Amino acid sequence: MNREKILVIDFGGQYNQLVARRVRECNVYCEIYSYKTDLDTIRKMNPKGIILTGGPNSCYEEGAATCDPTLFKLGIPVLGLCYGAQIMMHILGGQVCKAPVREYGKIQVTVDRSSPLFQNVSEQTICWMSHNDYIKTAAPGFQIIAHTSDCPVAAAQWEERRLYAIQFHPEVLHTTEGTKMLSNFVYQICNCSGGWKMDAFVENTIKTIRKKVASGKVLCALSGGVDSSVAAVMLSKAVGDQLTCVFVDHGLLRKNEGDEIEEIFGPAGPYELNFIRVNAQKRFFDKLKGVEEPEQKRKIIGEEFIRVFEEEAKKIGAVDFLVQGTIYPDVVESGLGGESATIKSHHNVGGLPDYVDFKEILEPLRDLFKDEVRRAGLELDIPKKLVYRQPFPGPGLGIRIVGEVTAEKVRMVQEADAIYREELEKAGLDKQIGQYFAALTNMRSVGVMGDERTYDYAVALRAVCTVDFMTAEAAQIPWDVLGRVTSRIVNEVKNVNRVLYDCTGKPPGTIEFE
Ligand code: GLN
Repeated sequence: MNREKILVIDFGGQYNQLVARRVRECNVYCEIYSYKTDLDTIRKMNPKGIILTGGPNSCYEEGAATCDPTLFKLGIPVLGLCYGAQIMMHILGGQVCKAPVREYGKIQVTVDRSSPLFQNVSEQTICWMSHNDYIKTAAPGFQIIAHTSDCPVAAAQWEERRLYAIQFHPEVLHTTEGTKMLSNFVYQICNCSGGWKMDAFVENTIKTIRKKVASGKVLCALSGGVDSSVAAVMLSKAVGDQLTCVFVDHGLLRKNEGDEIEEIFGPAGPYELNFIRVNAQKRFFDKLKGVEEPEQKRKIIGEEFIRVFEEEAKKIGAVDFLVQGTIYPDVVESGLGGESATIKSHHNVGGLPDYVDFKEILEPLRDLFKDEVRRAGLELDIPKKLVYRQPFPGPGLGIRIVGEVTAEKVRMVQEADAIYREELEKAGLDKQIGQYFAALTNMRSVGVMGDERTYDYAVALRAVCTVDFMTAEAAQIPWDVLGRVTSRIVNEVKNVNRVLYDCTGKPPGTIEFE
């Protein structure tokens, strides 16, 4: 097993996980620790290199996050990024103070290409800056290796001691050659050999879980989404039938989805876990009867979900661990990302009821980004279809039906959505479009079919291009594809006689249609 690793010391920057991720993209394993971690612990981990992250403090202020000065004398290469660079300079005798000109955003930097850090980097390169303070003078022993028009020390090095400080953020993609710089650090300066891959992560995580759980009982709420599925499979590989997965089928899943999940996780599937499918469709439909307001529908579905899960959990009795498919973006946004400042609260984190009797939460995917979770899923041999499943809201089709939800309307939207997805996949458009689905409007209108008057529902097709799901544009789907989807839907889905395409972006719309 390849044990070489880079340590990222967290000073509370917003991009810390990105640093770790870029290092992992260089095929070198990487872990993040708080700046409060003591020197002995760090030394024992025997890292090939250490990266100090950015952070919100000013290093010259009382109480600012800092580190043991001995860190720079361990003989281990250290790279400071932004705050990390400032604290390195500050501790080693340089001067850091409020910058006369703050830099924010893309800035042109001139670099000294003879530095190992900037090997094969263009002399003039665009870097991402975000700082109020600056390094006025580098610490003794250091040589300046980059500057901007407003920043005399954009990077400095003490080559013999392998200490490097950079004011900008190589980890964000706006720094066009940032990955190259990090790769230079990892390979040229730390002499890593590479070779770490997702399989090693998966393997190690499974081992760690096995040790931790020992003979304990584990409970997992399975939604069939990517994150909870990957977490469940990982757990099942680690502890087998000590794991029980509860899958609540609220009747608002996509066509055949409940059965697909059962096929994979149920007794006929490849895993050894205990699988409980709760067919709670009727309960949900009863609760939703007559409810039209979307927020109210969301609340009802969410609450009922927890109630059903709780009832099942009670039947099982006390468990030792509860598994959650929390992934890194959930953690950062909730302000639980180590030392980072809170941005907003998130539903996935700490979201399960406290009335489930368990001792500890297990979150095996807590350090991964969505695409890394997918890679881990592939590594675990989870079917591609599940791994690349589109984001699907917890309240499911309940919020893709405008107005009251009924079993009959769910059938219509399921059928229409299955046709739409099938045709987009056939046309090869599924990979280019961020999210796409059919929704059922609450509108009925007159049509004619087989010479007979109809008075039926209209289906709305939605497809958006988005990277971050914060903003989105309607996808430009070719007319012939839309035409095919339309005629199949009106022909094959009973009680639908009209198909509309939603051209609205986000803003002003949302991605969902409720
Ligand atoms: N707080 C420091 C500054 O304003 C460092 C900022 C950072 O690390 N992005 O300069």
